[in-house]
Amino acid sequence: MIANPGGASPLPDPRVAPVYIASEIYRHSTYGGLHPLSVPRVSTCTDLIRAMGWLDEAQYVEAPMASDAHILRFHDPDYLAALKRAEARQAVTAEDRDKYRIGADSNPVYREVFRRPATSAGGTMLAARLVSDGGIVHCPGGGTHHGRRDRASGFCYLNDPVLALLTWLDLGLDRIVYLDLDAHHGDGVQDAFAGEPRVLTLSIHEAARWPFTGAADDRAGGSARNFPVPAGLNDTEHRHLMRHAILPLIARHRPQAIFVQSGADSLLEDPLAKLALSNNAYWEAVAAVRPLAPRLVVVGGGGYNPYTVGRCWAGIWAVLNDIPVPDRTPPAAESVLRALVYNRAAGRNPPDHWFTTLRDAPREGPVRPEIERLAEQALEELPA
Ligand SMILES: [Zn+2]
Repeated sequence: MIANPGGASPLPDPRVAPVYIASEIYRHSTYGGLHPLSVPRVSTCTDLIRAMGWLDEAQYVEAPMASDAHILRFHDPDYLAALKRAEARQAVTAEDRDKYRIGADSNPVYREVFRRPATSAGGTMLAARLVSDGGIVHCPGGGTHHGRRDRASGFCYLNDPVLALLTWLDLGLDRIVYLDLDAHHGDGVQDAFAGEPRVLTLSIHEAARWPFTGAADDRAGGSARNFPVPAGLNDTEHRHLMRHAILPLIARHRPQAIFVQSGADSLLEDPLAKLALSNNAYWEAVAAVRPLAPRLVVVGGGGYNPYTVGRCWAGIWAVLNDIPVPDRTPPAAESVLRALVYNRAAGRNPPDHWFTTLRDAPREGPVRPEIERLAEQALEELPA
């Protein structure tokens, strides 16, 4: 039994039923009107699964803010102090901006610039601790995979996946898999565990896109495999990579725990990337890895179209709970989607199925030779 950081009741046991960790901090927090992260994502997912009748409130845990001691397990103390200063003053000095990239590179100073990442870190670390004896936790507010030890990067200020994986290592686990489905390479996580044989990091991401790392031959000293995919990646190609490379690599590692970063920017409708998945690909991937370890944590990540992110992540919760997704969203869930505001071109005339369905039409297609090659290459030169 783990004490509830909120103090009142004991935390639910994720071996009995999956646990959902989220926070109300995401509902009204925005990186600013013109920033891709001005859209509500976690609150949309939470509202959807409640409206679908998929959330027993006994499964819900409000994420605590991570303590300084927990954050410092990975991050630099001077950087943490700078992040707190930025929130308190709602401004940064030129020195802090240059050194820590806060208020630079699309990492804005916003109202909760310390509290929100600290809540993501607290939620994801709690997820890791909750499954110490097994079980499943979904924590869609986590997934800030670009965060660096001593600076902000790629909209990420802290790196909650790294902190969660370190929590598992500190608990004594020594065979861990990190699977990153985000359209961007999980560079911060890969670099944090480069050459660390206890953690295998796997990342499928769009080739030639920021941060321009994660080439197919980049194995980070043996602890990583990378799948830089061409624009237009379809569901069939994603399944090919899962079946012919990722699932065999995971099985070979015999993981005690699997951590999935489910950044939803690989979906066709995402404004920041050019991949073409339907949400079926995410749901299939999560269902496929689930039986491969006794402990599973699934977090969020990127994803900048609130309709498609919300529908994708809500469906992941359904998959984790073995709940079938109905063909048509019931009125309460449709209302959640119709209430969203999305100030991009695609949001001015949203297609009807963004409101009336949760499941996308499948986006199957041919498997291009470069995808086959990526799968083969990832299995080459494995030690016996
Ligand atoms: Zn991304």
